[in-house]
Amino acid sequence: MEDPYEELRRRAADLATGELEPRAAVYDRDALFPRESIKRLAEEGFFGLMIPPEYGGMGRGLLAYAVVMEEIASACASTALIWGVSSALVAGSILAWGSEEQKGRFLPALGRGEMLGAFCLTEPGAGSDAGAVKTLARREGSGYILDGEKMFITSGGVADLYLVVASTDPAQGSRGLTAFLVERDRPGISFGPPLEKMGLRASVTSAVYLHGCRVPEQNRLGREGEGFRTALSALDRGRVGIAAQAIGIARAAFKRARDYARRREQFGQPIASFQAIQWKLVDMATDIEAARLLCHRAATLADRGERFTMEAAQAKLFATRMAMRCCEEAVQIHGGYGYLRDYTVERLMRDVKVTEIYEGTSEIMRVVIASHLLR
Ligand SMILES: Cc1cc2nc3c(=O)[nH]c(=O)nc-3n(C[C@H](O)[C@H](O)[C@H](O)COP(=O)(O)OP(=O)(O)OC[C@H]3O[C@@H](n4cnc5c(N)ncnc54)[C@H](O)[C@@H]3O)c2cc1C
Repeated sequence: MEDPYEELRRRAADLATGELEPRAAVYDRDALFPRESIKRLAEEGFFGLMIPPEYGGMGRGLLAYAVVMEEIASACASTALIWGVSSALVAGSILAWGSEEQKGRFLPALGRGEMLGAFCLTEPGAGSDAGAVKTLARREGSGYILDGEKMFITSGGVADLYLVVASTDPAQGSRGLTAFLVERDRPGISFGPPLEKMGLRASVTSAVYLHGCRVPEQNRLGREGEGFRTALSALDRGRVGIAAQAIGIARAAFKRARDYARRREQFGQPIASFQAIQWKLVDMATDIEAARLLCHRAATLADRGERFTMEAAQAKLFATRMAMRCCEEAVQIHGGYGYLRDYTVERLMRDVKVTEIYEGTSEIMRVVIASHLLR
């Protein structure tokens, strides 16, 4: 039987290896926003991957998203992140929680990649404890006034549309949170300078400031008090994507390590002939397959409309640790050359670390998994 994902995977792989990968090293070196790569993803329709055809998208599910994410991330992890935040977190949330009017207003442009989305949950004092958001949304007339500060926002200042989680009722804690869609050109929204990062240097990460930012009621996403659920459901999808991103990076590290081990000679033979090196490669290849199964299991549950919070957390926890290990081993197999900027594995090792941190740290993944196991 024909694999319904193979044609999509091949398209993504062709774009990734043919066009994204050759640019990735320069984007990283110069910390350049990968504009051309994002444009090509848009032209190929990938921003509309999960958007239904009535809004101009391909109408595919989370498994298709994971398949494409792995291919893009194996070429340029920064491009993969920018694409993932806009499509899975922002467009995905509008699809799940938005009114018909909001879907019609935002999804076609997000799906064409003409509009880029950013997801604003984290604050200086609310990281792992995401329910502790302090940004306030005060009702005024027919809308809301937003005041607060968001931290670590992917595509901050570059994106056109900001999904902002704010408190409409501080006394209710996380139950008083509400999500809003804020366009970049609204007075009262401004952005910090790009943060200097260890990796993913081509993706912009910055603070987002909201000072007396007036947002009409039509831009409230879902009902008052539903913001935390909106954010958590976005993160479930996002975590499947981060697992796939990590797998893509690990795959790239494995491929480079294997090729190098075949080429590099010491003691008169390729280092690939040493069992110590072979076993590293064996463990990398096996772990990558195991992580992909976990990732695809979570995505499949999501596509069937079943709960997948625990499975998404398991996939992210396992895949990101596995990918970190793979990148370390890939550098090790390259010896001193792996420590040089000229070799891709150096970038992969810097890029992969954050997969264990964002969209919920590994510690928080364990908290999520434990809460399900011990119910
Ligand atoms: C490059 C990058 C891009 C990002 N993009 C976005 C974005 O687009 N939108 C957005 O909203 N956020 C984004 N983030 C923020 C990211 O999700 C947070 O950094 C992450 O959730 C952790 O929060 P924190 O940094 O405040 O760490 P903290 O929450 O302060 O955690 C510090 C340490 O304590 C541990 N810890 C905390 N609580 C517990 C606990 N209960 N049990 C055990 N250990 C615990 C953590 O695991 C971690 O090791 C991004 C971050 C980075 C680095």
